[in-house]
Amino acid sequence: VTTTKRTQQLGQTTCPYCGVGCGVDVIRQQDGRNASLKSVAGTPEHPANFGRLCIKGTNLLQTNGAENRLLSPSVAGKNVSWDTATGLVAEKIKDVIAKHGPEAVAFYVSGQLLTEDYYVANKLMKGYIGSANIDTNSRLCMSSAVAAYKRAFGEDLVPCSYNDLEHTDLLVLVGSNAAWTHPVLFQRMERAKLRNPDLNVVLIDPRATDSSTLADLHLPLKPGTDAALFNGLLHFLVTQGHTDNTFIADSTNGFEAAVENASVWSTAAVANYCDLPEASVIQFYTMFAKKTTAITFFSMGINQSTTGVDKGNAIINCHLASGKIGKPGSGPFSITGQPNAMGGREVGGLANMLAAHMDIDNAEHRKNVQTFWQSPVMAERQGLKAVDMFERMAAGDIKFVWIMATNPVVSMPNRPQIEAALEKCETVVVSDIVANTDTLAFADIVLPATGWSEKDGTVTNSERRISRQRGLLPAPGEARHDWQIICDVAGKMGFADSFSYAHVSEIFDEHTRLTTYKNHGERALNLCGLSGMTVSEYDRLSPTQWPVADATCQGTERLFSDGKFFTADRRANFIAIQPAAPAQLTCEAFPFVLNSGRLRDQWHTMTRTGKAAKLFRHTAQATLAMHPDDAEKLSLKEGDLAALSAASSGGMTTILPVTLETRQRKGEVFAPIHWSKAWGSHCQIGALFNGANDEISGQPELKHAAVAIQPAAFT
Ligand code: SF4
Repeated sequence: VTTTKRTQQLGQTTCPYCGVGCGVDVIRQQDGRNASLKSVAGTPEHPANFGRLCIKGTNLLQTNGAENRLLSPSVAGKNVSWDTATGLVAEKIKDVIAKHGPEAVAFYVSGQLLTEDYYVANKLMKGYIGSANIDTNSRLCMSSAVAAYKRAFGEDLVPCSYNDLEHTDLLVLVGSNAAWTHPVLFQRMERAKLRNPDLNVVLIDPRATDSSTLADLHLPLKPGTDAALFNGLLHFLVTQGHTDNTFIADSTNGFEAAVENASVWSTAAVANYCDLPEASVIQFYTMFAKKTTAITFFSMGINQSTTGVDKGNAIINCHLASGKIGKPGSGPFSITGQPNAMGGREVGGLANMLAAHMDIDNAEHRKNVQTFWQSPVMAERQGLKAVDMFERMAAGDIKFVWIMATNPVVSMPNRPQIEAALEKCETVVVSDIVANTDTLAFADIVLPATGWSEKDGTVTNSERRISRQRGLLPAPGEARHDWQIICDVAGKMGFADSFSYAHVSEIFDEHTRLTTYKNHGERALNLCGLSGMTVSEYDRLSPTQWPVADATCQGTERLFSDGKFFTADRRANFIAIQPAAPAQLTCEAFPFVLNSGRLRDQWHTMTRTGKAAKLFRHTAQATLAMHPDDAEKLSLKEGDLAALSAASSGGMTTILPVTLETRQRKGEVFAPIHWSKAWGSHCQIGALFNGANDEISGQPELKHAAVAIQPAAFT
């Protein structure tokens, strides 16, 4: 009789869902040759969550099973060896470059990738293929905030830390249902309010979401009018004498022009335009003006808009005018949706950026990065942002696309066009962990990747904190790490010397060295203090907020404390804002405004959270939230099926059961983003948005579609 030796060991990693970036303690069990995960808990000492996890985090093991995984590379549905699969990918890329040039190649990547995966994908595309056609599903998440920060501060910089929540007297939540989308952070807000009787919370959202439970004041503004609301606040601060004139004079540019543009926004004008009681507008403005500290916490309701960048800058303007920035408890704080949206930004994983926060439009920056990489070519201009990428693909200009760790058929707007684009593209490669995405149906080559608990690397959360994700289990089947797949393809394209990393830590090290490469000038993204780590030091890396200027630096909690920014003259820029209406306006044929968003317990297109029965207890199915008065006019009752269509939906109708909610404004409806055909659902929310996007950031509108609704008739 032989007995199998069983051992248990604690592993520490990071949650793979939202941008809060919670630390997770995992008990790993080894039974002879079999390893498994026995339990998860929040890491008590992780500064993002101090031991807490939300329901998605606590159910990580239920969503991490072996079922429904991609286990072998395949070509045209037949399993092949890795050598054949990556050889074919390399051959297809080279062939398209030879026939059509590098601009006919595209990568569409994801905020689910780790920083190291992102780094090599960006390096291969921009420095070796020679195009900047690499964009990411983070384009749908925070690219408007990135552009707003860059316009104001000269670099994509989030000034605040979660710790600031404990130092503020005013928390303004705008376009954010943090109670559902960033639950652990919301719990921290709740505790901050309990501890600090002076803390007021203002919720600015057309819907009275669950986040309104914390709010002293809710402003249910008309969708899309946020820029006018904040222009009005700027005007109020100026006219009521609540500006920080020393800070404005010493540390900013453009104040007068911004104030001039805001001057028409009296409280009465704002109330009228935003459809709010004037008394509520004055109450909010007075709170912001009189409190010595304030954090404006903004998210998708601001970013996912055709004027998302302007909305972000309208918010930032108010913090600059009142000097509420660079101090404990103050600042405009964009919260990212995905676990590594921030890490992707650091390594240039967007079509309009270079690695290390370098500018692709700057010839010197391009030369620096090319010299550092010693690469044969360098992308010379911005590439195609997500919406444009699929538009050009549908037009036949993109001949090869490699989609990594994302499901654009469901998550992108204008589903008919995304499907047409993937049909048209000569070669579609999909690397993913799961076997049931709507996008896989279009793949010519499928590459199985490792996922959470299997792969090693780093992620950066919304407060600039770099944390380790750690590989605790072996790869299932033949799955490989994304960075290995990318490097293998690069090697087969003839670039083995530049993509031969023995360990993922070598990629991280290269990334840190690039941030401080000569001639970059003074940049905030400085990871010098994390350079030169051994493999074991990298493995022990504790959560650290960048900048990390040298080896003695423990990280940087807050930016701009010295009143210096990262523009050429080190001053922040006010941006003069002219509020504009959303692109998809209602009309007689499409009279309802559709808003979309996340549910509390689901994630993106449910490829992982859909595995856990427990995560359907809160909301079992997608529904259409509608005001009872609207439902009555349409002869719809609670639970009746409603059919939604939009001018852009190409005949696709979304059918959802109705829930009656008085917290909806009349004429406006809300539906969740998660369901799709893969779930046997008639819910295809992406098909109802037409792809209109912000002309600066390229972030598509996902909060304001014009739709027709009628009782669904099945035949
Ligand atoms: Fe994961 Fe976000 Fe929940 Fe934290 S709050 S456990 S990061 S989903």
